[in-house]
Amino acid sequence: MHDLTELENLRHNLSEIDFEMRDVLSKARARELFRLISTRASYLGRETKLQKVLETQYNFFCCIPRCAFGYKLNFDIAYWLSFIGNSISKDEVELRSNCKEAPRMSFNFQILSQASFCVRGKELLYKYCKDREIPHKQIGKLIVATGLSEVPKLSALMNRGIQNGVEGLRMMEGYEATTLEPELHCVKALWSPSSGIVDSHSLMLSLVGEAESHGTTFSYNTAVIGGRIEGNQIQIHVSGSDALANWNERTELDSELILIPKLVVNSAGLSAPAIAKRIKGLPDSIIPASKYARGCYFTLSNTKSPFKHLIYPIPEVSGLGVHVTLDLNGQIKFGPDVEWIKGIDDIPSFLNMFDYSVCEDRANQFYPAIRKYYPGLKDGSLEPGYAGIRPKLSGPEEGPTDFVVQGEEVHGIAGLVNLFGIESPGLTSSMAIAEHVAAKLLK
Ligand SMILES: Cc1cc2nc3c(=O)[nH]c(=O)nc-3n(C[C@H](O)[C@H](O)[C@H](O)COP(=O)(O)OP(=O)(O)OC[C@H]3O[C@@H](n4cnc5c(N)ncnc54)[C@H](O)[C@@H]3O)c2cc1C
Repeated sequence: MHDLTELENLRHNLSEIDFEMRDVLSKARARELFRLISTRASYLGRETKLQKVLETQYNFFCCIPRCAFGYKLNFDIAYWLSFIGNSISKDEVELRSNCKEAPRMSFNFQILSQASFCVRGKELLYKYCKDREIPHKQIGKLIVATGLSEVPKLSALMNRGIQNGVEGLRMMEGYEATTLEPELHCVKALWSPSSGIVDSHSLMLSLVGEAESHGTTFSYNTAVIGGRIEGNQIQIHVSGSDALANWNERTELDSELILIPKLVVNSAGLSAPAIAKRIKGLPDSIIPASKYARGCYFTLSNTKSPFKHLIYPIPEVSGLGVHVTLDLNGQIKFGPDVEWIKGIDDIPSFLNMFDYSVCEDRANQFYPAIRKYYPGLKDGSLEPGYAGIRPKLSGPEEGPTDFVVQGEEVHGIAGLVNLFGIESPGLTSSMAIAEHVAAKLLK
């Protein structure tokens, strides 16, 4: 069956596909295209010349937004690499400055400073949003000390922020902060004028459109289920998400397609370590253990928003503390808190079987935390919002870790980059991470 004429026909059809890839592809078209390629791959068997064709078609492969992702190297990859998936469902995400406590460096991997990614990322993101008219607002942030015992921590944050290159930081007395925010209670506040908010959905749509118009093919509802390192080749095993959803965990997952890209970026968020473990030939010792912490938000019901700026308490060990965040319509929400999720092992994290519901009872912990800086919060005014899960690399009381960006120098495999522990401020940092990965891959 697989005679030369058959292969020649396929080659011809694939050139057509190649041509179409240069056009802007709709999501539906991308899905159709992927199905077409998959069908052909399984028809021919997985070890055929088709793989070779795919190898040249797809220089890049990425597992971003639960989709396989083929890409030609003719686009500023800083943009497409900065796709953020759907682990959080907020409409607006904050553009953070970085005044956080120094992250703990717990792995002997190449660790780059979260602080510098955040500061650079913020600059790139503001520019991108401005140039493309993506809704965003530079509204500023107040980090508050609500008692005298917290003032030294606030001063330490200010010093760290200055060291990290955050511009415009200024310490305010409590009375000055309340002229900005009359409902606020604090003894001192650190003012960060460069902090802001962005409509993350518009940002994603813009990035998707731009990537597609530069030759990227997205294949939605498609999952990376593993891979293999063979010599200097990286094989990526891909399957439809349906197969993953129906997988009974006792059998081996079968790939519908094997891709052999030249470059692979494992940026699968919560599942990134689980995917790395499934790449045969990648040493286990370089894959960090995953820890997970849920963060819930509560919204304010029937109340006019009391604040115009982002309000943060002093950060906690594992999170930023229950803070005030605003959307572009001025609606506020409080969160996220930190709830460690225990007993999650490999398969549930690989399949993202996390519980994203918000338990109403958690409000009991929110009220006292919020009233420290917003004493006017009325009983019964909080309503469950939504939850997100943080891909942590350290557990409770272990202190923060930095982003982990692993390239060849760590695992010895040319063309493979693993991104682990990209928790907040991952969105703010995304373009800077992309810039760094691009430089690393393309050098
Ligand atoms: C509650 C909460 C609040 C946050 N607030 C902020 C904020 O205000 N500001 C900020 O800068 N950051 C914030 N962050 C952090 C930010 O959301 C993350 O750092 C960022 O989303 C990480 O991006 P990522 O691409 O690494 O991972 P993700 O966004 O998790 O994307 C990974 C993608 O990979 C896909 N995927 C997973 N497995 C597979 C597979 N096997 N095959 C194919 N695809 C797969 C997933 O479906 C997903 O779409 C917050 C995070 C949380 C949890």
